[in-house]
Amino acid sequence: MIQEERITVLSDFPPRAGAYVLYWMQSAHRVDANHALAYAVLEGNRLGVPVLAFFGLVPSYPGAAWRHYHFMLEGLKEAGESLDTLGIKLVIRPGDPVDGLWELAKDAALIVVDTGYLRLHREWVSRARETLRCPFIRVESNAIVPVMTASPHEEYSAATFRPRIMRALGRFLIDLQVPDPKKRSTNLELDSLELDEIKQIQALLDIDTAIGPVDGFSGGTVGAISRLTRFIDTRLDSFPEERNDPSLDCLSNMSPYLHFGQVSPLRIALMVSATGSGGRDTYLEELVVRRELAINYVWYNPQYDSYSGLPEWCRKTLESHAKDKREHVYSLHELESARTHDPFWNAAQDEMRIRGKMHGYMRMYWGKKILEWSADPESAYNTAMYLNDRYELDGRDPNGYAGVAWCFGKHDRPWKERPIFGKIRYMNARGLSRKFDMERYVEVVDRMRKKNQ
Ligand SMILES: Cc1cc2nc3c(=O)[nH]c(=O)nc-3n(C[C@H](O)[C@H](O)[C@H](O)COP(=O)(O)OP(=O)(O)OC[C@H]3O[C@@H](n4cnc5c(N)ncnc54)[C@H](O)[C@@H]3O)c2cc1C
Repeated sequence: MIQEERITVLSDFPPRAGAYVLYWMQSAHRVDANHALAYAVLEGNRLGVPVLAFFGLVPSYPGAAWRHYHFMLEGLKEAGESLDTLGIKLVIRPGDPVDGLWELAKDAALIVVDTGYLRLHREWVSRARETLRCPFIRVESNAIVPVMTASPHEEYSAATFRPRIMRALGRFLIDLQVPDPKKRSTNLELDSLELDEIKQIQALLDIDTAIGPVDGFSGGTVGAISRLTRFIDTRLDSFPEERNDPSLDCLSNMSPYLHFGQVSPLRIALMVSATGSGGRDTYLEELVVRRELAINYVWYNPQYDSYSGLPEWCRKTLESHAKDKREHVYSLHELESARTHDPFWNAAQDEMRIRGKMHGYMRMYWGKKILEWSADPESAYNTAMYLNDRYELDGRDPNGYAGVAWCFGKHDRPWKERPIFGKIRYMNARGLSRKFDMERYVEVVDRMRKKNQ
């Protein structure tokens, strides 16, 4: 079922004759529970034409390194195979995605795009909209509750957002099966990149190749679902008690797959909800409330990726302490190479650098310490953003922008005033040691370091 709120008509040109319905796969790199794809198939069946899928491979996506491209291409290769079994051809072309779309749009009866929440994705869609002369429809598939249904404005915090989204959730937590297309596009002769040898694609890209693929994560829906199934079977029950402990491996590790749309948040929520596990509500709080609050932030706040996007009270309190004496001030290079006095922070930084994914609790500590150890709050914000996007496999995501901003007070409340932080919440190493077995966490990362040498 595709709820009406998921659908936005971007251009209402009258339907025209065409060879196919064109599905512009932008942010949902999958077949499973993909509302935009399902919509395209329904329209194709109604018009008696096949669906053709298109992905535009940008040669230098801002902030992305070979690590991210590699994971994404693995996922796209699998998505292409799944589409092929449905009789849908996936055309992947390097270059500006809007130019690529334009080429294929000439023969399209109608164009469907999935919803990307970030500025660049929205700019591509606006540019396409200006030039296309056929119906152009956007369908939202990467949030369980469509962003504008969840709230019509930027929310202050999880406390203000939670009741809204929970009220709407029941209407959207409904499974979706992509229907079978009646016509096939796999026989169309169209140029497309072959992804059999992913390494060869590197030559087409203008990116940092020093940050390479990571052990332990390969892209694709199949890997995501088997990881999720293992998590549900072995970790979900203890998630409420153990999720914050960085020395335990209790998280679902869904974030890289969610970031590239290789797994549907709806599929995850349905699978977790079906368990009746005691961990269910805590998990859904993260997946639904926290994740979709981050989507709300980037959708409604045009400055979501800059210091000026922070609430005024945060900037004001930080500025009033900008000149406070700092016991440690580290350069970007020292932070990047994990050379601080703090073994916990260094372990977190190396976990991200080597594994491509830092433990969720350590991300908060990591960001708070960058604030404490930088010359001023704005450069701290920029450093955190830069490192997060460069090394996290799930970086450049609404969650990353909201997560870094949270370390600087976003979605939080004022706390007792103190040096450097002002009224922004503070975290310290003693708190970590009191709650968790931090020696064990450091040992785990040490093993990663040795293996990586
Ligand atoms: C400084 C900082 C930077 C962050 N950068 C990113 C980032 O670049 N990309 C990213 O996806 N997340 C980011 N987060 C949010 C969070 O830490 C990760 O989503 C989470 O650790 C991912 O691991 P998981 O999938 O195993 O999470 P689980 O704990 O298993 O949670 C399941 C899902 O719930 C959502 N979720 C969990 N915690 C949060 C949270 N605090 N905020 C929003 N959604 C959440 C995620 O979609 C996650 O995949 C950041 C948080 C902070 C404090």
